[in-house]
Amino acid sequence: MNSPSTAAFTDSTDVVNYINGSTVTPQSTEKQAVFNPATGQTARHVVLSGANEVNLAVSAAKAAAAGWADVPPIRRARIMNRFLGLMHEHADTLAAIITAEHGKVFSDAQGEVARGIDVIEFACGIPQLLKGDFTDQVSTGIDNWTMRQPLGVVAGITPFNFPCMVPCWMFPVAIAAGNTFILKPSERDPSASLFMARLFKEAGLPDGVFNVVQGGKPAVDAILEHPDVSAVSFVGSTPIAHYISERAAHFGKRVQALGGAKNHMVVMPDADIDRTVDALIGAAYGSAGERCMAISVAVLVGDIADTIVERVAERAKQLVIADGMNPKAEMGPIVTRQSLEKIESYIEIGVKEGAKLVVDGRGHKVQGNEEGFFTGGTLFDNVTADMRIYREEIFGPVLACIRVKDLGEAINLINDHEFGNGVSCFTSDGHTAREFSRRILVGMVGINVPIPVPMAWHGFGGWKKSLFGDMHAYGEEGVRFYTRQKSIMQRWPQSIDKGAEFAMPTAK
Ligand code: NAD
Repeated sequence: MNSPSTAAFTDSTDVVNYINGSTVTPQSTEKQAVFNPATGQTARHVVLSGANEVNLAVSAAKAAAAGWADVPPIRRARIMNRFLGLMHEHADTLAAIITAEHGKVFSDAQGEVARGIDVIEFACGIPQLLKGDFTDQVSTGIDNWTMRQPLGVVAGITPFNFPCMVPCWMFPVAIAAGNTFILKPSERDPSASLFMARLFKEAGLPDGVFNVVQGGKPAVDAILEHPDVSAVSFVGSTPIAHYISERAAHFGKRVQALGGAKNHMVVMPDADIDRTVDALIGAAYGSAGERCMAISVAVLVGDIADTIVERVAERAKQLVIADGMNPKAEMGPIVTRQSLEKIESYIEIGVKEGAKLVVDGRGHKVQGNEEGFFTGGTLFDNVTADMRIYREEIFGPVLACIRVKDLGEAINLINDHEFGNGVSCFTSDGHTAREFSRRILVGMVGINVPIPVPMAWHGFGGWKKSLFGDMHAYGEEGVRFYTRQKSIMQRWPQSIDKGAEFAMPTAK
């Protein structure tokens, strides 16, 4: 097969499904517009699948499952390794596809692809990761060992904000572990998933092992209800994560559902001011705040607050906001007009709630791209814990500053929040850093690191309403999620005692 051409992913062709190694147009004629957020124009349409298409994908995945599970892990890893090479080779094409549909700046899209590739690289080590435990002589003449086996057909449902990286948190690990996979990407930026599917085929993946079904709720519900899907990984907003977790459990499936976030950065009075301001600007406004690990609350401790607010305000006003393909752009557009309107409505809510609007990004226009979904960076000061702009996820370039008197108050504030995805503390004191890391009720902690997304072999996941389920994405927990343990106990005729035993067997 020839390499996927960029043209097929940047022209107006409909984005369709990928089932059993081929692109398939569903019977359903329902479609949804996919925008170029920088121009505000409809770029193409994505087909919206229903139960029929999900059934087709599950049938293909089920038919491929037994054969794929039987392929020795080292040979699965070799295919993964070829996929890794192709992802490197086509990384910039993939990044351009992401920028065209999501809007994030090209260098940020390149970073997203690189972090997705990290997980593929991790999955190449699957022979080591699947190694079991063995105990010789658990009783005279008897050995006991454990092995991990794939679940069969598993599915992933992913959000718009990382159309390459988040699917890569799931399918490389699941497939390397011997499962077959159905990906239901976000309908807002669906093309990256098809591009990766074609690269995977080019790498030698057998048909049916990786399938992509485009669509929204009806496709998700069909996946949740399908008896042949054994496990569901979800990443998206908290209400949907909760729904997925409940429905999947109801249908007896294994589930991990990662939800929304409100990530705090605590700034201690002893923090390095220049580095802290740099970190805050990047973490609050990078990717237009549409990252589940974006910093949306700065918790300013003691008398450092005035300086930080002043310095961040100065920088927020100077953000270079443009089409993500403009090499000078620091922040691109918001994914859709609907999301833009939601973000800007939260700014109005903040004003009504009495927060101090220091920088107002609303109504930002980019010359030459007046119809694009742009907003500027927004900064609020004097935010309080009861305000909706503090409690709810805005998912845009809006930073709220809360002032507190000491570290204890900062920790209590964060621990009381319903989300617990990421958190960061900027300080130059080791004891503060240690206390903070130990006492904070959040799944991923950064010390002088604003966006502490764990590396591929550590696993990603928040606490509280940021994760439903007990296993994190990727890393060793990812391998565990996509496999189940079998324990085998064995002896051979020479060591078998004569006569029936009626008591519970014990070591002899
Ligand atoms: P979303 O919840 O709207 O959509 C996520 C997925 O669920 C999509 O594939 C969508 O088609 C599907 N979906 C939407 N509504 C549904 C419904 N009613 N029933 C069934 N399925 C439905 O999320 P989004 O707007 O695409 O992404 C942004 C959200 O994702 C933010 O809340 C962000 O914090 C979160 N997120 C979390 C993480 C994490 O690791 N915790 C990572 C990335 C994004």
